[in-house]
Amino acid sequence: MKALVIGAGIGGLAAARGLLAAGHDVEVFEKAPTLRTSGAAFTLWSNGTGILKELAVDLDDLGAGVDYLEQRDSNGRVMLSIHVGHAVRRYGHPNISLPRRRLIERLATELPEGTLSFGRSAATITQDPGGVRVEFEDGEAATGDVLVGADGHHSAVRTHLWGGDPTEPSGWTTWQGLSPVDTEVTRGRTGLMIQGPEGLCGLMPAGAGLLQWWFDFRWKPGDVEPAAPIQELRRRFGHWTAPPVPELLTAVKDEEVEFFPHYGHRIPRTWGKGRITLAGDAAHTMPPTQAQGANQALEDAWALVQVLRNKPADVPEALRRYERARSKRASLIARVAGTEITDKYFPAISRLVPNAIMGPAYTRWLRQISNYLSSS
Ligand SMILES: Cc1cc2nc3c(=O)[nH]c(=O)nc-3n(C[C@H](O)[C@H](O)[C@H](O)COP(=O)(O)OP(=O)(O)OC[C@H]3O[C@@H](n4cnc5c(N)ncnc54)[C@H](O)[C@@H]3O)c2cc1C
Repeated sequence: MKALVIGAGIGGLAAARGLLAAGHDVEVFEKAPTLRTSGAAFTLWSNGTGILKELAVDLDDLGAGVDYLEQRDSNGRVMLSIHVGHAVRRYGHPNISLPRRRLIERLATELPEGTLSFGRSAATITQDPGGVRVEFEDGEAATGDVLVGADGHHSAVRTHLWGGDPTEPSGWTTWQGLSPVDTEVTRGRTGLMIQGPEGLCGLMPAGAGLLQWWFDFRWKPGDVEPAAPIQELRRRFGHWTAPPVPELLTAVKDEEVEFFPHYGHRIPRTWGKGRITLAGDAAHTMPPTQAQGANQALEDAWALVQVLRNKPADVPEALRRYERARSKRASLIARVAGTEITDKYFPAISRLVPNAIMGPAYTRWLRQISNYLSSS
């Protein structure tokens, strides 16, 4: 069987690795001229790292382990501490915060020569009962038995399937960066979420002396991204005294800032048609507040491989099974992410919640949103 994968992000590369390992022919088409390695850092939880292990992606020398997530107020007082390492003990797979670039590069290494083509932007897709064909903007074309649209938030494959862009802004934005700032967080295994009425400052160790930092605050479509973003962050958050916010706002530079307005949409039960399906953000764009988008893209790759592993005679039926299996859990996490609950400031509630229940609760929650963890 030959699979055409559109998009060489986490979802597309992971699907390609899994399908190749299952003995299929795979071609990945990426519209950018090289691997897209922007996107600062992100966190992979036990569901994502477990799947990567199955895909033979070695993470041992990458990023930093995360055992605790602490919520603090803007003066630095701890409001809530979540032992996310509880899930690591339960499932046997680590939590790792790492630069997106490093994961993309590692997923792409060892792909057989000719698997990845760059500068190929999918434009037109057609299919008949015997196969699927994609034409690219440069006039080239490819044919296969299955097409996986893993082309992200503005997916051309999803537009072909669903017509139009279903995503809506959630009213929040993230300004983030990955900087060599030496703080307690950079050297430790605890992520911080510092909160106030103005928004949230998130901090994660990302390994090799790098600090993943982000500020979330309310944003309206049409709000202009300022030319001097650090000045704007100092205006909004400069009065916070919680360490290391003051030193972070002194150390980071305008050119390190990336802007990500939050978007989401309702996720239907069926994503594809015939021999075409979706994976990753193309299927379920969600605000990054639950840090699950990339993990869910890996879940898609894993679930897709399960249904295609034994070369099914009825490919469309297998793809609809994959979508049904994934849509329930992806919808659940997308709905929670869409509430922006972790960005909102409820100090009284945070202080009331007993820390001891949060680790086990998080471990159960992770299983609920993971096809991979709930399969064993
Ligand atoms: C600020 C922020 C923080 C985040 N933090 C986390 C986190 O901590 N943990 C987590 O799990 N997730 C996190 N996420 C979400 C995560 O980054 C995404 O969900 C994930 O990267 C999506 O991967 P993907 O492969 O589906 O899409 P993408 O990474 O968008 O890849 C899609 C690829 O398709 C290509 N493409 C697009 N159109 C075409 C076309 N027509 N033809 C060919 N190629 C095309 C693109 O160039 C791109 O390379 C975060 C997101 C943001 C914005």
